[in-house]
Amino acid sequence: MAKIKSLCKWKEKDIAKRMDLLVSLTEEPTYVCRKCARVSNTKKALCKAVPLPARLPSIKRLKVA
Ligand SMILES: [Zn+2]
Repeated sequence: MAKIKSLCKWKEKDIAKRMDLLVSLTEEPTYVCRKCARVSNTKKALCKAVPLPARLPSIKRLKVA
């Protein structure tokens, strides 16, 4: 299997070219990068992966600054 380029290193062009791979890597995420705040369902795609902690129950009601 081909090695996955860390999402943390993706440039705008990579994202546009590999949107299909991006969707596969980020659906139902189980890891978060503690350096870049990116999420993925495999730690191979993040530079400083840590398991995703429990989420807030109603984030949609929070205001983002
Ligand atoms: Zn990262």
